[in-house]
Amino acid sequence: MKILVLNAGSSSCKYKLFQMEDQSVLCSGLVERIGDPNGGTLSHKIAPDTDKEEKIFLENPYPDHSVAILQVIKLITDPEKGVIKDLKEISVIGHRVLHGGFYQTAPALVDEKTKDTIRKAFPLGPLHNPANLTGIEVAEKLFPGVPNVAVFDTAFGMKMPREAYTYALPQDLCRELQIRRYGFHGTSHTYLVHRGAAFMKKDLKDFNCITLHLGNGSSLGCVKNGECIDTSMGLTPLEGLVMGTRCGSIDPAIVPYLIEQKGMTAQEVDTLMNKKSGLLGLCGKTDMRDIHKLADEENNEDAKLARTMLIRSIKKTLGAFFFLLGGKVDALIFSAGIGENDNIVRKGVLDGLEGLGIKLDEKLNNVRSGEERCISMPDSKPCVLILPTNEELQIALTAAEVLNAQ
Ligand code: ADP
Repeated sequence: MKILVLNAGSSSCKYKLFQMEDQSVLCSGLVERIGDPNGGTLSHKIAPDTDKEEKIFLENPYPDHSVAILQVIKLITDPEKGVIKDLKEISVIGHRVLHGGFYQTAPALVDEKTKDTIRKAFPLGPLHNPANLTGIEVAEKLFPGVPNVAVFDTAFGMKMPREAYTYALPQDLCRELQIRRYGFHGTSHTYLVHRGAAFMKKDLKDFNCITLHLGNGSSLGCVKNGECIDTSMGLTPLEGLVMGTRCGSIDPAIVPYLIEQKGMTAQEVDTLMNKKSGLLGLCGKTDMRDIHKLADEENNEDAKLARTMLIRSIKKTLGAFFFLLGGKVDALIFSAGIGENDNIVRKGVLDGLEGLGIKLDEKLNNVRSGEERCISMPDSKPCVLILPTNEELQIALTAAEVLNAQ
């Protein structure tokens, strides 16, 4: 079974074609600057991680997603270098969709109703949902007869109990405007929970863990018996931890204060908090590698503060979730750019938690590897795991599940 995964953004489109029997990647790529009159780029990689690996860069104008995906199809089915002969070999296309809104609780086969759901959630995901829908509509046109499955990034959080997803605001207003905690990185958290349970040889329904997706955007997931019971992001990805350019949770009264004092518009405050804050706002850098360098080699106080605040915000949420689970936690699962690579942040987050049973093995923490691994002492409970996330594979697995359930 071959499954294509598409992640259409407003001016980009990522794709990956999986051979599901061994979960191998046949090819993958990215089209960027779609709609840019000066031209865009398509980078296509054949059979990554094998000796057949080959990269093709095409510098072309891609006026819209249709032209871009048509070019991808040409590469995939090329008689010489293509990885399939006929598009009909693709059993299903899995689409990443950011937001399912109030009512969409599960991944779904694409039909008019699903498309309508995606449309209705445009105000909740104004940058992503329209582009995700475009990707679906283009796929329907260019891959006739191949079913499409929408995999919602919010699906993971939709199972949270009411007391976790409700904001203490007037409830009529929340219902009217679909205001609730949704949570994001759902596909990644789902993947990590499944891999974590498999790694620890536990049944999903008996598996409690805290998933730490720490990248440029970061969120924590609190998982009891294999299901999400809380998550750090909220109505939008702005809530929660200090992130690369997002401020995370702050006193909401700062918003009207900024509007009153600086005459800022709502849009300007939104941009300030999403794009100019977080690590960037604290020290002028977003990448932890730069921040460690500034802090450790140049003794830069702003960089030290940014790092300390990032670690502290992760630790506070981790502590809250640990308590929600009554301390009965099988695994703490680190993932994404920072979670997988940054031993300093991991150590900072877990420092001083021996009294709770969390014992990091510093030697293992300092080993660099792309493998799934445990980095805690044998008697640590919970175990501390590093699991490289794989959102595309999770979308492919979910699409297969939805197709098989038909
Ligand atoms: P995104 O949210 O954009 O998907 P990623 O999960 O790719 O982000 O994470 C990107 C971030 O990961 C970078 O901004 C950087 O802070 C961090 N990162 C990546 N590699 C390393 C590394 N080797 N050491 C420390 N941090 C790293």
